[in-house]
Amino acid sequence: MEFSETVKVTTKAVSCSGSGGILGHPKVYLNMGEKTSIECPYCSRKFTLKKQLVKKAS
Ligand SMILES: [Zn+2]
Repeated sequence: MEFSETVKVTTKAVSCSGSGGILGHPKVYLNMGEKTSIECPYCSRKFTLKKQLVKKAS
């Protein structure tokens, strides 16, 4: 059974290492680029940019 979770984030650059435990995977970095959401190719979690809250890269 597949369940893809949506994660709200405030930056376009996110990292994902799965949900931990057996659902975990090697840490990957994802960048949305021009889009406002991206899906992790490993665990299918979807990262969505929270409204217009775009933090400046520190
Ligand atoms: Zn993932």
